[in-house]
Amino acid sequence: MSLKAHDAIGGGKERPGMRLDGIHHITAVSADAQRNVDFYCGVLGLRLVKKTVNFDAPHAYHLYYGDDLGDPGTILTFFEFKGIERGRAGAGMIDELAWKIPPGSGQYWVERLERAGLVISHEVGSIEFYDPEGLRLRIVETVTAHEGRASSHGDVPHEHALRGFDGVRALVSDPRRTGELLEALGFRRPGDPYAYAVDGQTLYAMRASAQDGLQGAGTVHHIAWVCEPEDQERWREELIHEGIEVTPIIDRTYFRSIYFREPGGVLFEIATKGPGFTVDEESEELGSSLKLPPQHEPLRPALERELTPIAVPRPT
Ligand code: ZN
Repeated sequence: MSLKAHDAIGGGKERPGMRLDGIHHITAVSADAQRNVDFYCGVLGLRLVKKTVNFDAPHAYHLYYGDDLGDPGTILTFFEFKGIERGRAGAGMIDELAWKIPPGSGQYWVERLERAGLVISHEVGSIEFYDPEGLRLRIVETVTAHEGRASSHGDVPHEHALRGFDGVRALVSDPRRTGELLEALGFRRPGDPYAYAVDGQTLYAMRASAQDGLQGAGTVHHIAWVCEPEDQERWREELIHEGIEVTPIIDRTYFRSIYFREPGGVLFEIATKGPGFTVDEESEELGSSLKLPPQHEPLRPALERELTPIAVPRPT
């Protein structure tokens, strides 16, 4: 899936000194936090790096998974909407996310996923499967995996561990309009008219779809791209210049964010690299207790009563 930057043949508005640096995080929806933790920590070997609440709807969990520190590019997060019905990916939604693994690790994952009872389909270098709530996932063998960081908190041997995101696929009604915005954001088109890359790595592939989706369990809510903190206001101005409606900068404690819908309907976020997950917890303790932003701290007694306690599976 990856090509060198100099192979790029299309797009990519140049902005000296200012660039998006790939995926920051991807956020999806779960109906069941414990089942979610059992799968993403217990089966995929990610680390739960933060247990907090949805800052915009604080009576629900927001769980963050990633490598040991939850570095940008490895972060997958879930809003828990307890008991919400399954959703269905459609136009304006991301319908697949993929992680990198080192070349030669595919067989390990085929056996591990089958042992976990998952139905998988695999071809050379790529394994497709679904999480317990129907979210389509893929793991891809690629040499660039060697540069990626991994979690050492599950029982997946380090040599085989997931090494951050390889990219996502989105369903959009008009890939051309989305493509124009991606190019305005500095993405390049390495050849395939429906696939966009940052730094030679194809991160955003699109498939045309006219079918409506339904947000629910097992669907992606949004994708966030990484920016340097000092560039965020300029990105906001660039988006406004492109005619995009964008939120003010919002403090998410672990990063600061702006949000907007790309023309195809997918919710995008641009999030700052830091300050990161150690801002309110020591690195050894990440994910072990419920962390709340100052504005929701008064709710703690109620939240500790309401939220079902979560147990992170121990490596076996
Ligand atoms: Zn987000």
